Amino acid sequence: MPRRTAATLATSGEVLDLIRTGEAVTRADLGRVTGLSRPAVSLRVGELLERGLVVERTDAPSTGGRPPVRLEFNASGGVVLVAALGASRTRVAVCDLAGHELAGREFVIDVEQGPDVVLPLLMDTWDELLDGRCPGARVKGVGMGVPATVEFAAGRTESARVMASWTGVEIPPLVRARFPVPVFVDNDVNVLAIGEHRGVYAEETGDLMFVKISTRIGAGVIAGGEILRGALGAAGEIGHIPVRDGGGVLCRCGNVDCVDSVASGTALLRDLRAAGRDVKTIADVTALVRAGDAETMAIVREAGRRIGEVVAGAVNILNPAVVVLGGDMAEAFGPLVSSIREVVYRRSTALATRRLRIEASRLGAAAGISGCAVMVLDHVLSPDAVDEALTSRPTR
Ligand SMILES: [Zn+2]
Repeated sequence: MPRRTAATLATSGEVLDLIRTGEAVTRADLGRVTGLSRPAVSLRVGELLERGLVVERTDAPSTGGRPPVRLEFNASGGVVLVAALGASRTRVAVCDLAGHELAGREFVIDVEQGPDVVLPLLMDTWDELLDGRCPGARVKGVGMGVPATVEFAAGRTESARVMASWTGVEIPPLVRARFPVPVFVDNDVNVLAIGEHRGVYAEETGDLMFVKISTRIGAGVIAGGEILRGALGAAGEIGHIPVRDGGGVLCRCGNVDCVDSVASGTALLRDLRAAGRDVKTIADVTALVRAGDAETMAIVREAGRRIGEVVAGAVNILNPAVVVLGGDMAEAFGPLVSSIREVVYRRSTALATRRLRIEASRLGAAAGISGCAVMVLDHVLSPDAVDEALTSRPTR
């Protein structure tokens, strides 16, 4: 038996992590990887089985002999509640513990109506989805993405001008009053970055920047495999980096010539209206782009160059392997994406762009839901959180 001190013995939470990540699939694997004795492995696995976090499967016998019992993480052992709020569109869902959506609903709601209106609607929707699709499911946590800067540790919305009615609101206590579980809130672009990274690029790279180009412009940065939030949660706010020769446009943040004020969906609509076009939504602009309207194309290309300028600066600082362009404008506007690419490759340093890929988002809006789920699951299924839950609560 290997000699290990108590401090280095793998805990049940760490054992769960090995099973969940597929590093160990049998009790023998666990013994080998952790150095735990057979009785110690059994004790920990027993605890995880009892809590429904792990299930046993027996493979069909192959060449005779007793088949090994495989241990699998039980993704249906609970659910997480998620909501990806957009400025106008919001998606609410219930996901399993692997982050897969079990039930969801999308609706149009103006988030500016404030937390008193929006939060009860979200919570009612979770209740309805739970009743309809997963009655009796154990809720393990809640994750939300909101279109505002969020002081992550407190789950407090900060940005005063984008979601004015939410300024200074600490969301977690309001949600916990009805769902007494851990609640995590981040800005909408960070959850998109987490979702796209985990869903598409995790095997390939730990360094990715997700740029959302929609009503507003923002970025989420994955560095070394983790979301980069900065000191308080404001990292990646590229929308408020000024561009050169912007013409002195006043931004809603109070500064002038922020890329958001000259190249976001809001800015495009304003410029096209000033040019006499009847456009109300980004979909209207999309229609003009599809029709090949020359003036619209020129305005869209110019916006792409502005965004490219700012993204090039960010690429120089962060050296991501992949820049993902998402949001409804990036999805619909070919000329926008090609202008961004052109400027980034021209203006970033040679080393930063040597292997840089600039890709369209593959998951689209679905990245928001899976990113919210991953944000919660990484916390509530972390070894520390699992160990705490195992010791602090009595078994069922
Ligand atoms: Zn600004």
